Amino acid sequence: LYAESSCLGCHRGVDIRQGDILGAVSISIPIQGLLNETRHTRLIILMSAIILIGFLIAITYFMTLRLATDLKNAQARLQSMALTDELTGLNNRRQVMARLEEEFQRAIRLGESICLIALDIDRFKRINDSYGHPFGDLVLKRVAERLLSSVRPYDVVGRVGGEEFLIIAPASPSDEALSLASRIITTIRQETIGEGAARVTVTASAGVAVISTHDTDIDDLLRRADRALYQAKTEGRNRVAGP
Ligand code: GH3
Ligand code: MG
Ligand code: MG
Repeated sequence: LYAESSCLGCHRGVDIRQGDILGAVSISIPIQGLLNETRHTRLIILMSAIILIGFLIAITYFMTLRLATDLKNAQARLQSMALTDELTGLNNRRQVMARLEEEFQRAIRLGESICLIALDIDRFKRINDSYGHPFGDLVLKRVAERLLSSVRPYDVVGRVGGEEFLIIAPASPSDEALSLASRIITTIRQETIGEGAARVTVTASAGVAVISTHDTDIDDLLRRADRALYQAKTEGRNRVAGP
């Protein structure tokens, strides 16, 4: 507090001049607590931000991972659907032909044998006409199951038409393929399909062809298998005709 001219009126007689220091006021504000609190709040905000960002990154990562897995599964499903016969779950025509081409080239390269069995259910139209199309579908499924249970693990089985199937038997001599075909048609006719009034026994005919050194492509082999199947049909069905 400085002495001003207005102060001199009251303090007359005292040795005070204008501008002298008359007193002082000390003000102290304890800000350490405030600083600590601010630091604490800043730390909490920082930690929350880190946790939030980490959480967001983790969610994004897992969602991306899940999306990628879903996409991969969908792709695999689509690919499998493109190669599979929807009704029976067997290879479809496109896949059987691709596998036949592969096995044919391999057999030529290695000088190995390869057999092809063309199989057709006998009088299948009658089954559809007598018991209905859905029952016909059930017969196709059961026949497909029997085919799969009769072949060896490395044989390829496919449905190539309505009630027509192909079996590729790689590295098999003709007698082995003939006995495989006989085993298949025996298995097919052995069990009845359906129940109650709709209970049928189905038979099938099969034609067997073996790769020959004269074959230039798979069509030669397919033609011979078809011809053998036709022979089995004309000779009375429920039988195998061979090479
Ligand atoms: P064959 O002994 O000479 O082979 O006589 P088939 O009656 O078996 O032969 P055909 O070619 O006359 O008849 C085949 C029938 O198969 C006709 C068609 O309606 C039926 N078919 C084709 N595809 C399907 C299918 O996916 N489901 C059902 N239920 N029937 C089918
Ligand atoms: Mg038929
Ligand atoms: Mg047919």
